[in-house]
Amino acid sequence: LKPDLSGDFSQLMEWADGVRRLKVRTNAETPDDAATARGFGAEGIGLCRTEHMFFDPARIISMREMILADTEKGRRAALDKLLPYQRQDFIDLFRIMKGLPVTIRLLDPPLHEFLPHGDAEIAEVANAAGVAEAVVRRRILELSEANPMLGHRGCRLGISYPEIYEMQTRAIFEAAIEVSKDGGDPVIPEIMIPLIIGKKELEILKAVIINVASEVEAEKSAKLEFLVGTMIELPRAALKAGEIAEEAEFFSFGTNDLTQTTYGLSRDDASRFLDTYISKDIFAGDPFVSLDQEGVGELVRIAAERGRKTRSDIKLGICGEHGGDPSSIAFCDQLGLDYVSCSPYRVPIARLAAAQAALKS
Ligand code: PEP
Ligand code: MG
Repeated sequence: LKPDLSGDFSQLMEWADGVRRLKVRTNAETPDDAATARGFGAEGIGLCRTEHMFFDPARIISMREMILADTEKGRRAALDKLLPYQRQDFIDLFRIMKGLPVTIRLLDPPLHEFLPHGDAEIAEVANAAGVAEAVVRRRILELSEANPMLGHRGCRLGISYPEIYEMQTRAIFEAAIEVSKDGGDPVIPEIMIPLIIGKKELEILKAVIINVASEVEAEKSAKLEFLVGTMIELPRAALKAGEIAEEAEFFSFGTNDLTQTTYGLSRDDASRFLDTYISKDIFAGDPFVSLDQEGVGELVRIAAERGRKTRSDIKLGICGEHGGDPSSIAFCDQLGLDYVSCSPYRVPIARLAAAQAALKS
């Protein structure tokens, strides 16, 4: 069901847009979501979670082949098969968002999330990959972690297996060149690194990205413009934001992980004692819905200040679920962030909340 944004509502939204300071982007990785969000007035994509792009049956086979490979050569061969899909993904998104910024986050979740579960699926995958079932089982065991959300994910994967980020970056650049040929403003992709704890990871991965850019420029005889930035979603990254900003052209606050790691509380299990904690006044509400302005918000404030001190024009946004929550949006407005990014159906709410926040201040 699509809300009707015409008539009086559209007039109201126009007034809201006239007063708000915050830009409103969307979190989207499918063409449908991106188009819906643009229809609702999204001013770009603030977070494209690329991991969601690998679950399609045609792609998951190559993804698993990549994970099962135990040599770099094997991984690269599988990644080569994924490249055309990724390129097309980004071509579609750049076309839908033409003229607006698109932030693409490189692969974030632990690799075992892509591996099969259960005997039947394991047998099927082994068969498709031409390996023994024992190989698949061994890899699942090797990759399993006690705390996957605190484990080998985000930029840690990019550091261990740079070829994954190379493939994704190449797809982004090739797509940008392709869509820029349509005419109008050239596509300037924003490449975002997840889960860093400090400047060093960004330095290493930025070098990988710049290297791919030079290769693609030479191959296509084209000039690329792009931004490299990072998620700020771990407390250490928030505290080290001053140094990180030396390497980052933008920060996007991943307040889902930042809340999880600041509270030491799994975002998937918080509901177990949430009501009790709220009834005893320990939590004011669900901190995963409405930003905890004192604790997590303080880290966001510190990071914004330190980031700006190093790079006065650093672009600052938020892409955790809080980016679509009115009271959190008001907080982002107070901090002077540049944009919030939220799910497509929250875009109109965010436009109104951003206007309300501006009017109140
Ligand atoms: C976040 O952590 O807030 C975020 C946007 O990333 P994800 O939800 O994909 O971990
Ligand atoms: Mg995150």
